[in-house]
Amino acid sequence: MRHRIAVVGGGPGGLTFARVLHRHGHPVTVLERDPARDVRPPGGTLDLHEGLGQLALDKAGLLAEFGALSRSEGQAMRILDTDGTVLRDWRPGPDERANPEIDRGQLRDLLLGPLYVQWGRGVTQVVPGTRDGVLVRFADGRQEAFDLVVGADGAWSRVRPAVSAVTPHYTGVTAVETSLGDVYTRHRDLARLVGDGSVAVYGVNRSLVAQRNSGGHVKVYAKFRAPLDWLADLDPADAGAVRSSLLALFDGWAAPVLDLLRQGTAFVHRPVHTLPVSRTWAHVPGVTLLGDAAHLMPPLGAGANLAMLEGAELAETVAAGPADLDEAVRAFEERMWARAGRWAKITTAGLERLVSPDPAEALALFDQVQPS
Ligand SMILES: Cc1cc2nc3c(=O)[nH]c(=O)nc-3n(C[C@H](O)[C@H](O)[C@H](O)COP(=O)(O)OP(=O)(O)OC[C@H]3O[C@@H](n4cnc5c(N)ncnc54)[C@H](O)[C@@H]3O)c2cc1C
Repeated sequence: MRHRIAVVGGGPGGLTFARVLHRHGHPVTVLERDPARDVRPPGGTLDLHEGLGQLALDKAGLLAEFGALSRSEGQAMRILDTDGTVLRDWRPGPDERANPEIDRGQLRDLLLGPLYVQWGRGVTQVVPGTRDGVLVRFADGRQEAFDLVVGADGAWSRVRPAVSAVTPHYTGVTAVETSLGDVYTRHRDLARLVGDGSVAVYGVNRSLVAQRNSGGHVKVYAKFRAPLDWLADLDPADAGAVRSSLLALFDGWAAPVLDLLRQGTAFVHRPVHTLPVSRTWAHVPGVTLLGDAAHLMPPLGAGANLAMLEGAELAETVAAGPADLDEAVRAFEERMWARAGRWAKITTAGLERLVSPDPAEALALFDQVQPS
């Protein structure tokens, strides 16, 4: 008898889980809170690592399509001093495929493919151990039972409370994101500044990173140390006021770098939250978590990669038809924690060095991790 499997959340982790199960011919119910595919902008670009996100796509049979869609030139990285001096200018070789970039929207569409997603199904609560199995309760008052519920519903997971009382905590670093459109025609100087990949500038306790996306879009991220209520006195929708506050924070930086903020039309506040770096729950039969729901970590290029590989590995575990599904999920959790724990330590230490009182720390980190 096939198990009744549900995944909550249609992000990179949940969709990879569903797509790999689909590849193995195993039915899965995908429950997503968003009412439709395109109700909100999908976000910026993601770099998918060879041994993580790309491995997951291979397990889903999608590596060739990823190769065609992704931008290997997007791995380029330029670092400037706050006065605009170029400190590093790294460009990938023609065969460099370690971390190519793909827009989140393209990745989502690639993973969605033939999948059937139940849109507009916000989950409010998951109750394990009932007579029918694991009960999933929805915002519209309905409920449904499954044998295994996978929480892939991100940082503020509604599945997590079924296994753990832990909640994300603020790191003290905040991020504000803005976008530039049509840079080839409207912002040619900025297009040159950003290059094919990313440009990063590190100052005392703050940084500015701009990343090329496809279609002439650039995403700009300002990160700095600030109280969680940094925006409390401002209307977040008042782009002029947010821009002025940011420009004051980055006062004295080179004019072309500040133009990345001046030309931004809308600003999104993204305080950086994390979960503890170590395992946070004892196994609960019938429920598990993956991705940000399990191990939210600083956004340093690992979160989507881990979520996808975990999704693929758990799907393979389920599709293998283990005699004891619960025991197989428990073993999956052990593997997930070993790997995620390592990455959580790396990204937590990385955030400290990238938004640091000593900007030389950021440069040293780049020199450590970048291939020469
Ligand atoms: C600025 C920035 C840049 C980043 N860059 C990278 C990068 O280059 N590489 C990388 O690997 N990672 C990167 N990350 C991290 C990455 O975005 C996350 O780790 C990744 O998206 C986690 O995937 P996920 O599937 O676990 O969760 P999510 O992507 O958060 O997806 C969760 C899904 O669940 C849905 N959902 C939420 N609540 C419910 C509910 N109650 N019921 C039903 N559905 C629900 C949401 O609508 C969403 O679709 C970055 C993060 C940020 C903020």
